Amino acid sequence: MRLTYTIIFVVLIVILFNCAFVSRKSTKSIGNAVFWLVTSFIIPVFGNLIIIFSSNKLLSTIGYYIYFIGMDSAVMAIMYYSFKYCNIERRFKKVYYLIHSLVFIDCIQYIFNPFFHQAFTTEPITVDNRIYYSLNAFPGQTYHRIVCYGILLVAIAIFFMKIVTSPKIYVEKYAVILIALIFITLWETYYIVSKIPVDRSMIGFAAFAVLAFYFSLYYRPMRLLDQMLVNMVSNTKDAIYFFDKNRNCVWVNEPGRLLLDLVGDFESVPARLRDMFGEKEWSADEWCAKEVIDYKNIYDKNPENTSVKKYYYLEKHKVEDDRGEKIGSFISIRDITKEQLALEKERYNATHDSLTEMYTKEYLFQLFRNMLNENPDREYYVIYANINDFKIVNDIFGNEFGDFVLKYIASIIQSQVQDKGICGRLVGDTFGICIPVDEFDEESFEKELTHFTVSDGTVEHYILMHLGVYKVNKKELEISYMFDRARIALSTIKNDYKTYIAFYDHKMREDMLWEQHITTDLAEALKNNQIVPFLQPIVNSQQKVVGAEALVRWLHPEDGFLAPYRFIPIFEKNGMIAEVDKHMWEAACQLLSKWKKSGKEFFISINISPKDFYFMNVYEVIKEITTRYDIDPKMLRIEITETMMMNDAEKRFDIIRHFREGGFTVEMDDFGSGYSSLNMLKDMPVDLIKIDMAFLRKTKDSKMEKAMVIVHHVIRMLNELGLVSLTEGVEEEKQFSQLSSMGCSLFQGYYFSKPMPVKEFEDKYL
Ligand code: C2E
Ligand code: CA
Ligand code: CA
Repeated sequence: MRLTYTIIFVVLIVILFNCAFVSRKSTKSIGNAVFWLVTSFIIPVFGNLIIIFSSNKLLSTIGYYIYFIGMDSAVMAIMYYSFKYCNIERRFKKVYYLIHSLVFIDCIQYIFNPFFHQAFTTEPITVDNRIYYSLNAFPGQTYHRIVCYGILLVAIAIFFMKIVTSPKIYVEKYAVILIALIFITLWETYYIVSKIPVDRSMIGFAAFAVLAFYFSLYYRPMRLLDQMLVNMVSNTKDAIYFFDKNRNCVWVNEPGRLLLDLVGDFESVPARLRDMFGEKEWSADEWCAKEVIDYKNIYDKNPENTSVKKYYYLEKHKVEDDRGEKIGSFISIRDITKEQLALEKERYNATHDSLTEMYTKEYLFQLFRNMLNENPDREYYVIYANINDFKIVNDIFGNEFGDFVLKYIASIIQSQVQDKGICGRLVGDTFGICIPVDEFDEESFEKELTHFTVSDGTVEHYILMHLGVYKVNKKELEISYMFDRARIALSTIKNDYKTYIAFYDHKMREDMLWEQHITTDLAEALKNNQIVPFLQPIVNSQQKVVGAEALVRWLHPEDGFLAPYRFIPIFEKNGMIAEVDKHMWEAACQLLSKWKKSGKEFFISINISPKDFYFMNVYEVIKEITTRYDIDPKMLRIEITETMMMNDAEKRFDIIRHFREGGFTVEMDDFGSGYSSLNMLKDMPVDLIKIDMAFLRKTKDSKMEKAMVIVHHVIRMLNELGLVSLTEGVEEEKQFSQLSSMGCSLFQGYYFSKPMPVKEFEDKYL
């Protein structure tokens, strides 16, 4: 008997050590409490082992001390464990301290027991023919028992309270420990009451420790998990279908039933799924898919028969057991219509202009790139459409009407393009169109899209649109460059109110680049004297040089000799002509001042661009230069053209009068090449008229005679009006003699000399 218990207690100690070791390593928060619980239980078991094993009074007494103090630590550990397990340590701190103190007192009284024997004494009895020391309990021992029982009862109360207040599903977790606690309490009581020498309830205590160890660290409340999973699956909005290993449907949640209109059992689920979502790899284990269902045709869910689209996200997963063996599978189907529509709306907003609902520039470019990739053999036009003076529409009629116009134009562009091509709003009042060459009906575009009246009922406005068209010949070119080219084509359209559509050709781009190139270079050129006058002699009827016209030349360091036609029109367009002209006038005055010093009385004619008048006070500028160089104004002849008179003629006449009053000679250049009106001639306060032979050169030989008759009469008329006549562009002796005999007094042209560098002129004539 003694041996049996010795073995049992040794085994228990080994098991408890093992549990202590494992729980020490546990990362769970309860791990520490479990460790203390199992470790503390080793002590009383060990005490009992000594008691049973020894026949020596001292050893037995030591065994009893270890046993009782071990019990104190064991009940303390139970307390600590209960607080932790039930997660209430923070709420009952005071109780916890009270218990500590009671246990502490108990330990103290055991220290005094060897002297006062107030707790217990031992007395030898014979068990199994061997001496065994049994216990005589005194009041100190009673205190010990009260403390231990008290603590056990508190622990029982804690678990009991927890069971009552927790959801049903957690009862199991607490009930197991509670029952075990009650069980060991009763067993211990039985031991005390029955006075059996060996405390067998130690087995119960050890078993409790192992149970607590297992429940705290390893037990997974399967029923709890099951319940949680079932609740989750039932509460989710996703339709869920579970299948067993043989692909029979075993369970469907409520949304799953509704989605398939299921009544009764689940047998029809696979067929219904197939019906609804079509053929898929239904039997494969893991997959996901997105599906659109148009409820127009499905299950009469949509009695109005309108198109109601729903989007679903389907997922299939297999279910495996712990060993990784497949035990079934499930399909979940989520209705993602809302998210999908939001996404589509977002995508729409990102790709469409909010005002006109047309594609945005970026999206148009992207679509056109795709179009080019998909149809590499097709030819396309890229069209850049711009509303003329749209700013005025906004300024005069307000933004609201402006928006109305834009929307209106968007609608006509769309009706022109239809599904033949694609179109979008580029920015502001510009639109872009990409259309296959064979689909582009130029006539219809011009008729519908380039000039029309827009009316919103109250305001009516005539709109003019210009289109620049680029035929894509280099598909790899960036789309934005294609539109740049279309825009270049558009920029060549002058306000002639006849041309609405311009096609890009390569020269346009070169012109554009050239324009940019020389515009950038101009400032440098002026500074470094790359812009110089050439002089073309002007002769009288005796062919004697009396003066010269200063004609601009650009000696460009990279591009070489540049004649005026290469840059004058460009600078006239961008206003930089004023800088060039000022430079030329200054150069002319410099020459005149030099010549004056050497006593040569040649005059120089300078050219004034009509645009100069927009940028400066031409008279003041020229006056200032001549004064600075101290030049007789008579020597500087002012060449103006009739186009100068096109705007604000009266004011321009005043300027001319100013010049004449200031002593300058004013010449009317290029007479006969433009829109000269004879009527104007009578009012024009000029001294000299330059008749351009260029227009005669364009005349066919048969008409030459008639042309000469006209020249003849013009010269006669000029003479009668008291105006000096000069013919320029004289190339042959015959012309000279004819003109001379007609009464023309001055001549200029290749026949006498081409324009030449100043140095050459000076060497020849000075
Ligand atoms: P323009 O004022 O009518 O100048 C006469 C042009 O006719 C010059 O061309 C001259 O070289 C050319 N010419 C002279 N005789 C003959 C001839 O017998 N046959 C032919 N075929 N042509 C002849 P250029 O120098 O190329 O000048 C062209 C135009 O450039 C000028 O026409 C003038 O409008 C403008 N221009 C030249 N220099 C200036 C300048 O300094 N300022 C401004 N604003 N314009 C200038
Ligand atoms: Ca001229
Ligand atoms: Ca001329």
